[in-house]
Amino acid sequence: MNESGFWLLRCGNQVLTAIDHAPESVFPYGQAADFGNPGDALLIGEWQGQPCFAVEVERLPDNVSGEPMTVGRLYGRAGAEAFALAGRATQLLDWKKNHRYCGGCGTPTEMKSGEFAMSCPACGLLAFPRITPAVMVVIQRGDELLLARSPHFKPGVFSALAGFVEAGETLEQCVIREVREEVGIEITNLRFFAASRGLFQIP
Ligand SMILES: [Zn+2]
Repeated sequence: MNESGFWLLRCGNQVLTAIDHAPESVFPYGQAADFGNPGDALLIGEWQGQPCFAVEVERLPDNVSGEPMTVGRLYGRAGAEAFALAGRATQLLDWKKNHRYCGGCGTPTEMKSGEFAMSCPACGLLAFPRITPAVMVVIQRGDELLLARSPHFKPGVFSALAGFVEAGETLEQCVIREVREEVGIEITNLRFFAASRGLFQIP
């Protein structure tokens, strides 16, 4: 593949970054020619008005000076847009790698053109990228908020309650169940009070 645009390379659980540059240019790393035009890439979005591709490599090229790091370490180091792109790349690369064979009949799958879907040529089963919805809830009583802590938290660290939505469950049912399971209380007056407007920007 010899596409113009930006490229994001992942090796193992790390992505290649140019972390020494200004935060807004920290990621993705650079142009395809820098990496020998690797193939089998995913178009994951745009970066600075140009297409951005993600590709999994077995080892990082020797001729570039970027710093490999996990997506978790990118948080706070890269800008919100770059961090979101890194997360999207990581999830889509994982999805593609983990759906090379049909879950129904075992036939090697093919990626559908024009959408993120791995398709089975034998039985037609489609596998889409998995998302994992979660809820976070703040419990209020008068002017108090209920926070909790997990045994693996550092001393003195507390958080709002949170959990993953189970199959067939609404967000509201999930909140009620998680609160019951984690702190053993029943809540009333459940309501949404804020919505994310982009990554980590809750008003
Ligand atoms: Zn199949």
